[in-house]
Amino acid sequence: MPEDTLFSKIIRKEIPADIVYEDDQCLAFRDIAPQAPTHILVIPKKPLPKLSDAQAEDKALLGHLLFVVSDIAREQQLEKGYRVVINTGEDGGQTVFHLHLHLLGGRALGWPPG
Ligand code: AMP
Repeated sequence: MPEDTLFSKIIRKEIPADIVYEDDQCLAFRDIAPQAPTHILVIPKKPLPKLSDAQAEDKALLGHLLFVVSDIAREQQLEKGYRVVINTGEDGGQTVFHLHLHLLGGRALGWPPG
């Protein structure tokens, strides 16, 4: 089993989070240090440490996470656009080793990222 992380504790409701969506496969909550007016994290309940750990059996789950992001973006009225980011590993800037999709929106976002 992968190491327990802060996000596993959020899934188990052991530490508080501003939850915006939950189903049997995933949880979405507001980032504690928002980088845009809307900054939401979508995480699988399965403790996958990072995208590169996903296996063929996780394909449907990965698709579900993206679909949930697009539903939340619609619900958050991000019709002008938004960005979905998955920081992966050390060079990707990942700091919490439980897979998460960042949904960022509510302002024009710069490109390229740092
Ligand atoms: P990453 O750098 O891609 O691993 O992203 C981790 C994200 O988790 C960062 O944007 C943090 O601000 C966010 N974060 C850390 N702790 C919490 C928490 N307790 N509740 C919500 N978001 C958090």
